[in-house]
Amino acid sequence: MKSIVWIKHASQLATLAQNSEGPRIKEAMNELSIIEDGSVWIEDGVIKAVGTTTELERKFNDRAHEAEITDASGHLVTPGLVDPHTHVAYGGSREREFEMRLEGATYMDIMNAGGGIHATTRMTREASEDELVEQSKKRLDSFLQHGVTTVEGKSGYGLDLENELKQLRVMKRLQDEHPIDLVPTFMGAHAVPTDYKGREEEFVELIIDEMLPAVADEKLAVFNDVFCEVGVFTPEQSERILEAGKMYGLIPKIHADEIEPYGGAELAAKVGAISAEHLLKASDDGITAMADAGTIACLLPATALFLREEAAKGRKMIDEGVPVAISTDCNPGSSPTTSMPLVMNLACISMRLTPAEALTAATYNAACAIQMENKTGSLEVGKQGDVVLWDISNYQELQYLFGVNHVKTVWKKGVKVVG
Ligand SMILES: [Zn+2]
Repeated sequence: MKSIVWIKHASQLATLAQNSEGPRIKEAMNELSIIEDGSVWIEDGVIKAVGTTTELERKFNDRAHEAEITDASGHLVTPGLVDPHTHVAYGGSREREFEMRLEGATYMDIMNAGGGIHATTRMTREASEDELVEQSKKRLDSFLQHGVTTVEGKSGYGLDLENELKQLRVMKRLQDEHPIDLVPTFMGAHAVPTDYKGREEEFVELIIDEMLPAVADEKLAVFNDVFCEVGVFTPEQSERILEAGKMYGLIPKIHADEIEPYGGAELAAKVGAISAEHLLKASDDGITAMADAGTIACLLPATALFLREEAAKGRKMIDEGVPVAISTDCNPGSSPTTSMPLVMNLACISMRLTPAEALTAATYNAACAIQMENKTGSLEVGKQGDVVLWDISNYQELQYLFGVNHVKTVWKKGVKVVG
């Protein structure tokens, strides 16, 4: 018995379908390929047809009795959102640091005092695999509630071989046990652990000589990410770690120019990173280099807001031809949110993306940033039935009625998981 979902009469079916390879740039980010009175037919988790309701009725009316039909009259329907940058599998919580920052401490003050990433590292090391799975599942449930059906997740709260592998194994279990697709990234170079203070080079060698081979051996990650920042890893160290990862087939990503301009955007282009993250302080040359190399800018406006920093120059990046994706950066320190709708709102408000660009950045381009664009990120025949029905009628409202969760129904691989 086939499982069939038939969504009909969407006031706007934003398919995001285009006849082009790779991430969308410039004007193409505004093209949502909307079908009015749109319809989708999903069979055994895979999209079999997309078109107007009239077209699909002509094709499938004699099989209507086999389908679970949803009348989407008056509603916007989009692909499931994709979050291409999270640190979702962590232990503990850091609300006290939030309070400290409001009292005047900076993010780097807290980190240098053993808080920040170090605090989460302690709590993640202390937690068992089962405990981490349970905590993280709740966050993934919340992602689904906000219309997110695919998430990237990074290690980097283990910071030793055993605990980095533990964090990645937790993500592997989450991929098996939770409906969300979770794409894993190794990020051993997230911070220099406190016991390596003054011996940073030794830690870089540990990553290159022991962690990367072990991660590759167990096939626990697709990407290799580095926090290239003043006081964390230098551009030179970052380059060595990313080049070493490439030898094991791990694709580079880079946390770049978040706090200080440090040549991170330039390095992302140079090593052929699939994406560079944050980029609040990216230089003009760095932005040009990324446009030339086709490096995706993964922008995190909720993090900028939460740290009370000015957001990245999203408008300028799109105008200069950089493909832009957006993400929550879900993590316990600088962005403890799972709301991609809020991130889309902020992309418009604080980075001046258009409502259509923000949706592209949260679906198709986000999928490209984690090499999932052949499976999800747009509503096209052959892709997974990852679909969101919103309790609003058009895509402009999605960005305009901000700070509210408009998700009504979510299907993941053709299975209703919300609503
Ligand atoms: Zn991050």
